Amino acid sequence: MNNLKQQILALQSISNTLEPNENQRNEYISKVNLYANQFINSLDNAKAFSSEREAPNAFTIDNEKMKMEAVLKLYDEEVACKGINAASGGHLGYIPGGGIYTSALADYLVDITNAYTGMYFSCPGGVTIEHELLNWMKNIFGFPKSAIGNLTSGGSIATLIALTAARDKHAIKSNNILNSVIYVSPQVHHCINKAIRIIGLEDVIIRHVELDEYSKIIPSDLIQKIEKDREEGLNPFLVIASAGTTDTGAIDPLQNIGEIASANNLWYHVDAAYGGFFILSEAHKHKFKGIELADSLVVDPHKGLFLPYGLGAVLVKDKEAVYHSNHYRANYMQDAINDDMPVNPADVSPELTKPFRSLRLWMPLQLHGIEPFVACLEEKILLTQYFREELLKIGFKLGPEPDLSVSYFWYTSKKTNENAFNEKLIQELHNDGEIFLSSTILKGKFVIRMAILAFRTKLHIIDNAILMIDKARKKVESDL
Ligand SMILES: *Cc1c(COP(=O)(O)O)cnc(C)c1O
Repeated sequence: MNNLKQQILALQSISNTLEPNENQRNEYISKVNLYANQFINSLDNAKAFSSEREAPNAFTIDNEKMKMEAVLKLYDEEVACKGINAASGGHLGYIPGGGIYTSALADYLVDITNAYTGMYFSCPGGVTIEHELLNWMKNIFGFPKSAIGNLTSGGSIATLIALTAARDKHAIKSNNILNSVIYVSPQVHHCINKAIRIIGLEDVIIRHVELDEYSKIIPSDLIQKIEKDREEGLNPFLVIASAGTTDTGAIDPLQNIGEIASANNLWYHVDAAYGGFFILSEAHKHKFKGIELADSLVVDPHKGLFLPYGLGAVLVKDKEAVYHSNHYRANYMQDAINDDMPVNPADVSPELTKPFRSLRLWMPLQLHGIEPFVACLEEKILLTQYFREELLKIGFKLGPEPDLSVSYFWYTSKKTNENAFNEKLIQELHNDGEIFLSSTILKGKFVIRMAILAFRTKLHIIDNAILMIDKARKKVESDL
């Protein structure tokens, strides 16, 4: 045998280990499956938060091989059991994610087949699933069929795509950046500020519109600000509303803002990353009236549809505005391009190669139907009401009646000032960790938030939360 062949075969005997045989595959998957079942079974008794600060340092890369058991043990001890347990129903902080099981199975399948879903040509089926999901969402939010969309890694990248389209539609370039104006709520999610900077709009004028006592945009203030800016020769081009803010879950007056945007030729963007899918509930649909007026919309299935992290979506009515920055034709792509084909996801996103994201949503929707998702959303809203009623009974003060499933509360103690007390209280709650809550500051007031969106959050968890909060409150008072 010639030398070159010998070298190749020598390497092959090593590289072959990247393809475990069927027995090895079965062994691996049964161990992973065993761990997955143990993890899920233990969730009911697991803490939602471990405040241990020590950084894990057992992950160095070298050529030492590990057994699957050792990998899983390390994973359990250093990853799954530290920080926030985001799979736990006791996660009531920030905006909880989900992690439904059937979605993980879809990810497994997708990774095995490794289909490339950036272009229709390479995986017509996978891309069609993405289009069907986007069509479903267009329908839910009252967008026309001609709208374009994309499944992204999350709300932040979805926002980046939407705001880039707004920028390009209104031709905001070096000659007019300094006098162009964006209108936002002071409660807007910080991914909006990130997107604005990333797309080169750091120097535009950002106006914070006044909010009412429910932390919602006051439409008359928006009109006044736009008119004043117009009189001064500025270039208002974008207004952003939220359908569910992070701090308080407030839904801005979407209809009014949409009408103002349209009368003033502004791009209208709605951030529905957290709240959007509550529109699926007949009982709460009316709160979203006017969302169909948006030019672009962001929604996060990894929040409101309880998927594991890694799925956001954007819808945009103006296809050309999205194509301006994202649609390219390179010679090396010539086999894949045919303009009569359905839209290529890579033409709607900065990503060329992307994970096959659609199956992780499509498969659960097929296996479970839509109804349990809606029931789960409605359950979260009722649990929020229940939580608030129980907090009142143990002496807490409550923020205003929420639109959805985020609310806040605080305790007033005679022994010390309010903010100091509630800061101590959240520390105490984090030390306990059975249930995880987070805090925020609203108009200078330190408050504790509840965000009920994890699909595993059930009635008994709220009862436990009440017990934990009551215990922590008593401890903070007696320590003073
Ligand atoms: C979570 C969230 C975002 C950001 O989405 P990611 O998926 O975390 O990137 C934007 N807006 C709101 C209201 C959110 O809750």
